[in-house]
Amino acid sequence: MKLPVVVYPDKKLKLISKPVESFNADLHTFLDNMYETMMQSNGIGLAAIQVAKAERIMLLCIPDEEGEQNKDDLLEIINPKISNEQGTIVYQEGCLSVPSFYEDIERYESLTLDFQDRHGKKISIQAEGLLSVAIQHEIDHLDGKLFIERLPYGRRKKFEKEYKKLLKQKKNPASD
Ligand SMILES: [Zn+2]
Repeated sequence: MKLPVVVYPDKKLKLISKPVESFNADLHTFLDNMYETMMQSNGIGLAAIQVAKAERIMLLCIPDEEGEQNKDDLLEIINPKISNEQGTIVYQEGCLSVPSFYEDIERYESLTLDFQDRHGKKISIQAEGLLSVAIQHEIDHLDGKLFIERLPYGRRKKFEKEYKKLLKQKKNPASD
């Protein structure tokens, strides 16, 4: 089932998500719904708070060289923790909760990610490049932070102005 995506400036996006304690059937259903929501929205990542659940859950499905997303590459990441951050990378990021905006953001180039899978099993992976960027973007969501908050002051101001205009157009398309 596709879930509604929470969109900025909804205040829910500022909530700090809580750790998951029960790895039960409800969690599995929720993960499946998150997957459908992410794929149908053409996203490569989704945090639970983006579908209004303040729990430390996120999905990532990074496209292959042909730009295709394969379910084999799906990562269901619960209670994530990053360490060993190294280097810097600038990547043009977008977000399902901030539709139609893409901005260059600087992140760590590589890191170690420790997390639990849907059964509570502990897993550790090394990530670099786009995967590293996407992990940091989604963990920001779990901490109530959006990528636009990482923009320098001037670009943030410009974003707020353009975004407000866009929201107005969406509400009242005839006035454009
Ligand atoms: Zn996002």
